[in-house]
Formats: sequence, C-alpha cells, structure tokens
Amino acid sequence: MSLLEEIAKRRTFGIISHPDAGKTTLTEKLLLFGGAIQEAGAVKSNKIKKGATSDFMEIERQRGISVATSVLAFIYKDKKINILDTPGHKDFAEDTFRTLTAVDSVIVVIDVAKGVEAQTEKLVEVCRMRNIPMIVFINKMDREGKDAFDLLDEVEQKLGLTVTPLSFPIGMGYNFKGIYNVWEKNINLFSEESKQHITETIAFDDVNHPDLEKHIGEEAAETLREELELVYEVYPEFNQQEYLDGQLQPVFFGSALNNFGVRELLDCFVDIAPNPRPKESDTRIVDPQEKKFTGFVFKIHANMDPKHRDRLAFIKIVSGIFKRNTPYLHVRNNKKLKFSSPNAFFADKKEIVDESYPGDIVGLHDTGNFKIGDTLTEGEVMNYRGIPSFSPEHFRYINNADPLKSKQLYKGIDQLMDEGVAQLFTLELNGRKVIGTVGALQYEVIQYRLEHEYGAKCTYENLNVHKACWVDAEDESNEEYKEFKRVKQKFLAKDKQGQLVFFADSMFTLQMTQQKYPTVKLHFTSEF
Ligand code: GDP
Repeated sequence: MSLLEEIAKRRTFGIISHPDAGKTTLTEKLLLFGGAIQEAGAVKSNKIKKGATSDFMEIERQRGISVATSVLAFIYKDKKINILDTPGHKDFAEDTFRTLTAVDSVIVVIDVAKGVEAQTEKLVEVCRMRNIPMIVFINKMDREGKDAFDLLDEVEQKLGLTVTPLSFPIGMGYNFKGIYNVWEKNINLFSEESKQHITETIAFDDVNHPDLEKHIGEEAAETLREELELVYEVYPEFNQQEYLDGQLQPVFFGSALNNFGVRELLDCFVDIAPNPRPKESDTRIVDPQEKKFTGFVFKIHANMDPKHRDRLAFIKIVSGIFKRNTPYLHVRNNKKLKFSSPNAFFADKKEIVDESYPGDIVGLHDTGNFKIGDTLTEGEVMNYRGIPSFSPEHFRYINNADPLKSKQLYKGIDQLMDEGVAQLFTLELNGRKVIGTVGALQYEVIQYRLEHEYGAKCTYENLNVHKACWVDAEDESNEEYKEFKRVKQKFLAKDKQGQLVFFADSMFTLQMTQQKYPTVKLHFTSEF
C-alpha cells in the first residue's frame, strides 16, 4: 500500500470527558466493533479511585493502567483507528492537554443528566483553541436527564460550540425508545434485544410515513416528528468542511453501557473524521504525505520496574514512514538515534513493528534522551510546536532529605520533569528549587517515585504563590523592565528552559504588577 493510502486509512483521536461521563465504557464498546476485544470490561478504567487502600498503591495502579491504555488501536471498516487515552482526573489535566497535541480529532462524552461539567469545559476549550474537529456524544440516554434541546443549548453556550444533531433521541430514561439517525435516515429501536446485540436498524427516509406509529407508538411518533422539524429548522445542516475546520460539531445520542447509538457514532466517525493532518513546526508546515519521516514526543512513561531505568517515549508520526533500525535526528540534542524495537500498540497487545505511518503512535525505549515535545526527523532541523507548559496551580519548595543522595535527587527530579509530571523552577535570588504542579496528587507521585526509582528522599515546604507567569519583555533594555526585575527580584525564577517566570502571590498582585509595568507581558502558558 502506498503512503497516501496508509494515511487515508488512519483516524487518530482522543475521547474527552469529565470523570464518570462514560469515556471508559464508550472506549470499550468502540473496541468491540473492531473485534479488538471479546467482551466488555476489558478496558481498564484509568480513574483515580476514591478510598483506595493507599495513595502509593493508587499511583502505581494508575501508572500501570496509563501505559496499558495509552494507545488502543483497532481496524474497523478497513480504517486503522488509534484511540489515545486521556486521563479525566483534573490532577492529570496537563497529561491530557499534551495528548491533545497528538490527536487529529476528538469525541466529547457528556452525561445527559449532568450536562456540561467542569473538566469538559477545560478540555473542550483547548480543542477549540486548536480548531480540533469534535463530535459530541450525549451518553446515558437510558436514564432520566435533561431535555435534548436544553442540553444542546447548554453545549453551545458553555462550550462555545455550534452543534448540529446527527442523531436524535426518541424519549429518554424509562421512556427511551431509541434514536432517529439523522445522518443515515433510519431508526434504531432500544429494546431488551438491542442491549445484548447490535440490532438491525429500520430505514426511515420519511418520518411522516404512517409506519412510524407502528414502531414507536402514536405519542412518540408525533413528538419525534415535531422535534425533528425543530432540529432541521434550528440547527445548521451538517457540512464536513466546517466540522473539519472546528466550526461545527455534530452531536450523537446514545447509551454506551447498552452499546446503543455507538455504531451510529462510529460509522459516521470513520466517514467524516480527518485522517492525519498537516502540522506546524517552527520553520514550516509539514504535510503527512512528505516522504521523509518526522514525528514528536507527546508522552513519556517511566518503566514500572525500578530495576530497569528505561522509559517509553510515545512518538506521534507526522510525516513519512518510520522505520525500525534507521538513524533519525533527535533535533534538540543534535544526535542521531536508531531504535531496534519500536512498539506499536493494539487494544489487546503491543508488538515490535518494522514500519509505521502518519497518525500512528510508536513507543520507543529511551534511556533519558527524550523529553516531552522533542522532534525526530531524517536530518531536517525543525521543532514541532504546540506543547506549551501551563501555569501550575500548586507550588512547594523541594528540599533534599538525604544529603548523601543529592546526585540521585537531582537526576530524579530532572527526569520526572522531562516526563512532564510537574514543572521545576529555580528562584533567581537564592537558587532554591520550587516544584509547580497542576494537582496536589503530583507531590505524592514525585516523592514516592524519587524514593523508589532513584533512591532519593525529599521533603516539601509550602510556598504562597497564586500563579506563575512567564515574563515577556518587549524590550529587555527598557528601563521599565529593569525596574520590574529589580523590584520583583524576590519573586522571579527560571523554568527548566531558562525562561523567566514571575511568581504572583495573589490575583491582586498580578493585576497591580501588570498595571505598573505595562510593557512587561505576563503569560499563563510558556508559549507566546
Ligand atoms: P469515565 O470516568 O468517563 O471513564 O466513565 P465510565 O465509563 O467508567 O462510566 C462511569 C459510570 O457510568 C459507570 O458506572 C458506567 O457503568 C456508567 N455508565 C456508562 N455509560 C452508561 C450508560 O449509557 N447508561 C448508564 N445508565 N450508565 C452508564
């Protein structure tokens, strides 16, 4: 098969949702269609369990699951579908943000009763900023929930989307009778049988046909006709280009648990979802069809076995063909590396592959060369963009608790930061190290892993910081900037890349500082 055909076959996407909306359940059902797993319950939930026996065990359990579910690939209707796992827990939001740089589209799962929840809002915002094509799946239609139109309104308002339903529910909860598939123009009836098997749908080009009453009863038929009329009136017609440009989001309804409405979603998805898209680097836009291989690291996973220090770096292939045992340029280190056992991932196994194509993810064994965001090429010097660091929300000093192990401590911190577990800042004034994280859980992860993987001990000390902002001076020789640096010296630090960061202890300080030094720009992400 040619490179072009391989690219056309691939659909690489992520499922995003607030915890409990049904991401794991939906993933599992999607895999069933690919024949990738035999029975339900095969996809492990990557949720943080409340009340787990110990936090350490929970962290280890999480890490184990995280590597097992990083990429789940399967073939459906001759398409190679790669699902990239995105943790839902807010403490791991940064992980999810980074994974979103490697997907070509997403499916957003929303609980019909809970509607748009906090985590969904954050994740969708990131997708919206990047114009990632999104399909919305309203889940749990077998339960009582919000009215479909109200929910569509909520999705538009809270998520800033423009939606168009491609399926529409017939009733809900106790009265859930099925869905009308606007996309294929047919009806799928929800019944005891449909909970066990994928049932035949009933073609229904014209909902005004009197047969509709036979299938769903008079009352439901009348309501459906009225509602569909409203759907056609109120919502824009589906337009694939607008969807691909991130301007229009199709919506499906269903029940993942009952595997209902999922086929409709998947069939439409393989039809309309984008294959691997061109990607911007610091020098140019790279097209997947280019002959030469390029790719970037979006995730690093440390070995679970402390005796083996090697890690797995997950590379998204952007262009060309990635080949085993071929030297590639690690651009940041200006070093050629080759890989004898690149891993490809499937839902039920991982295996060593000789060749991989754009859209695919390969796992490369790494002894410490990679950090998140690194680019690999056949020799071209360029770096892929789009993995900013976000301003952390928790800050603590980190202290060495075992002076004999300081080397181990610094190596450990260095590697954990490369993995993207947290961010390290060094205070300008006294060189003290500060760890910034998105969630409090990360401090436990770091402490535990430093001890078990590097043999080092650390303690933390609280630090009152509200936000860390990246400093961007219009002109470094300007007096205002010099004064800013002098006055705020105590609150300045450098991040790992050597970029200057301002620690604001409150929102008020932040505002005052910005007012006082208008030419000094303060940013909440490292990329500006
Ligand atoms: P995640 O946190 O988004 O991965 O959510 P899960 O897939 O783990 O689902 C959370 C809970 O909702 C589980 O108890 C599921 O069994 C349940 N659930 C998922 N889909 C449905 C559905 O369609 N209907 C009902 N009633 N429950 C569902």
